[in-house]
Amino acid sequence: MEKLIIGSHVSFTKEEGLLGSVKESLSYGENTFMFYTGAPQNTIRGKIDEEKTKEAQTLMKENNIDIKDVIIHAPYIINLANNKDEDKFNFAVNFLKQELTRAETLGIKKVVMHPGSHVGLGVEKGIENIVKGLNKVLDKKEGPIICLETMAGKGTELGKTFEEIKTIIDGTIYKERLLVCLDTCHLNDAGYDISNFDKLLEDFDKIIGLVKIGCIHINDSKNEKGAHKDRHENIGLGTLGFQNIIKIIYNEKLKEVPKILETPYISINGGKDRTYPPYKQEIEMIRQKKYDEKLLEKIRNYYNKF
Ligand code: FE
Ligand code: FE
Ligand code: ZN
Repeated sequence: MEKLIIGSHVSFTKEEGLLGSVKESLSYGENTFMFYTGAPQNTIRGKIDEEKTKEAQTLMKENNIDIKDVIIHAPYIINLANNKDEDKFNFAVNFLKQELTRAETLGIKKVVMHPGSHVGLGVEKGIENIVKGLNKVLDKKEGPIICLETMAGKGTELGKTFEEIKTIIDGTIYKERLLVCLDTCHLNDAGYDISNFDKLLEDFDKIIGLVKIGCIHINDSKNEKGAHKDRHENIGLGTLGFQNIIKIIYNEKLKEVPKILETPYISINGGKDRTYPPYKQEIEMIRQKKYDEKLLEKIRNYYNKF
């Protein structure tokens, strides 16, 4: 059997902690997952329950989830690129330090982070700030790794090119603690041609090095290549298309890299509320490498049973 490390974004609640995340992930038929340690849009974080964490780690072992493939996503409001407000910048640095400590407590090795937005300071200054921030956060050789995510280039987002990511890595002292998270929707929206992924990987290898790929976010996109929009779409329903996504997922060079779905939840009764995760059905399609024209219908039928 081909090796496939696949999962999705799952929740992490105060009550259930990591145990709830593992259970949710298993219910979708996954062998890895990603979560925020609290709400993605804020920085309020609770204490981690040791018992629940141990239980979660046991459940992972029993189900062949390798904890080294599990990912934490730092909240997206953390912005190291902007230091106009010194308090905010320092808060971001301290929050990230704590996030890495939380990761260690949970036994997790990788934390994905958006590099940041320069909000008017310019690319160069923004990158300088990110480097400064990262060097404060990563102040020793050992510890969890930060995976810098490739961004769509919406607004003043940095990390929209491999060159920008490379400049950030080059500026840091403990480079061994930095990897990259490729996001297929973001790459497309940033202007990369994902339909020729071997070529894209060749470019990445020349600029940064394939060994630096620590995670891949698998998303279709609602927008055309180069749109700088960042709106995720369900697998096969966007501009990337099912076959291109399958080729990325099963690329030989990426087989050891965890792949995480961040596709949008869907609504089941025609409403605008997107409350149902599509991951179980999307993962089924990915495992079978066959697109199901009735994907949305299938998801709706599945949830309507309850
Ligand atoms: Fe992200
Ligand atoms: Fe992403
Ligand atoms: Zn995105």
